[in-house]
Amino acid sequence: MGKSSAACKRPAAATKTVVKKAPVQPTITKAAFDLEKFTHLMEQVLGATEVATQAPNIIWASGFDGMNTVGRCIDSLFGSDGNTQAFGAEMSESSAAFALMCTNPGHVFKDRFWKITVTDVAMTAKQGGFCLKHGRKCQCVVRGSGGTAALQLYTAGFTCKSNSVRSLKRWVQNPLEESSSSSQAFHLAVNAIRRHAPDFVVLENVLGARRPSKPKDGGPSEAPIDRYRGILANVPGPYQWEDLDVTGRPLPEKRDRLIILGVKQSGGHSSFTATKWKEQILLLEKASDALPIHSMVGMIESSRPRESSSTKPTRNAQSWTDESKYHQYFSEILGKAVSAKKIHDPKPAPVAERASRRFQLQTATAWQQANADCCEILLKQQAEAGGWTLESEELHPLFDLSQTCGHGHATLFPICSTLATSTRIFSLRTGQFLSGEAHLKTFGIIE
Ligand SMILES: [Zn+2]
Repeated sequence: MGKSSAACKRPAAATKTVVKKAPVQPTITKAAFDLEKFTHLMEQVLGATEVATQAPNIIWASGFDGMNTVGRCIDSLFGSDGNTQAFGAEMSESSAAFALMCTNPGHVFKDRFWKITVTDVAMTAKQGGFCLKHGRKCQCVVRGSGGTAALQLYTAGFTCKSNSVRSLKRWVQNPLEESSSSSQAFHLAVNAIRRHAPDFVVLENVLGARRPSKPKDGGPSEAPIDRYRGILANVPGPYQWEDLDVTGRPLPEKRDRLIILGVKQSGGHSSFTATKWKEQILLLEKASDALPIHSMVGMIESSRPRESSSTKPTRNAQSWTDESKYHQYFSEILGKAVSAKKIHDPKPAPVAERASRRFQLQTATAWQQANADCCEILLKQQAEAGGWTLESEELHPLFDLSQTCGHGHATLFPICSTLATSTRIFSLRTGQFLSGEAHLKTFGIIE
């Protein structure tokens, strides 16, 4: 591939004026999200004949686990006695520790990421390796209750970084280059499928995998998903493959995802095809799309610091160097948001009245303070476009302080854009950051 493979063309960005368009108010419920109730509702949508009436005792495994939300969902569907997670694989030890506290994978192999070389799930595609559950080298063998067993389901949300249109690298590096993390991770997931030959496969990535990369030499453009389809078609089984897009509804996070489904045609379930599976998921997606989104308000309110934590000494007033940096960043961030047509004709409030000073964000950096104040201007203009003010009862303005104002991680409603490791959601209503516990609530994995 080398240098001939080129970056894809960045779409014309700054042609739409966001502020003139009134924001659409989503249908929201203040009720807490209940995973058990939700899975029961989904079962009802498919109809009683489509779901197992007793624990099916499925044997499954995973890669790129994160906090093992897949395990939580499978436990919720079948009960923890109704399934066996033979193994998982995760790079972050803290995520793996959380998963081990909440679910019960047989082993959790340690993923690695060596600079540009991804070795995620490499151990599960081989004979085994270091296991975070047992603190030693373990064999990666699928075992059911009576010894070795066939794997029924394998799931892998392989690295999405190089495919994500939110990643700056997406516009300078072709995600299909062999050195891209998404490409490497995809191949490793395929290796794991080849080794364990599961009956069913679920792969997950971002919608950016559908975006073609346009070669500079004018050759045919190719989207990552096209390449994946070609590679998957050659996986022995053989498998039937389908792909579809799903949302994160009704959770309060905008998390649209591409899902690839695989069904092994020699798996003894010939009547169930990937096409049938896709149809059923689309039916569930339609039903969840009709549900109101669960508001983040309850989650934010639970993030308020406890009374006893207020004894911490606060930092003294900002030094003149901090103040100088603040004004420099404020001007830069605001200028970029105006260029991107996110903000128009700004009239900043006096410094003392801005969010960073009203809420005393002394522990935030000068850049974060400036960013917070620019996000407030952006949200104020969006509220005005919809005929509201920031104080309107039906709004709950939020922004992600880790993302620059012009990137659109600000919302008037109690829902948020995709959460990342660095995300720091700040509420302009309460003046508080979303706690780690509340972040987990937005994933629907704790109540
Ligand atoms: Zn182990």
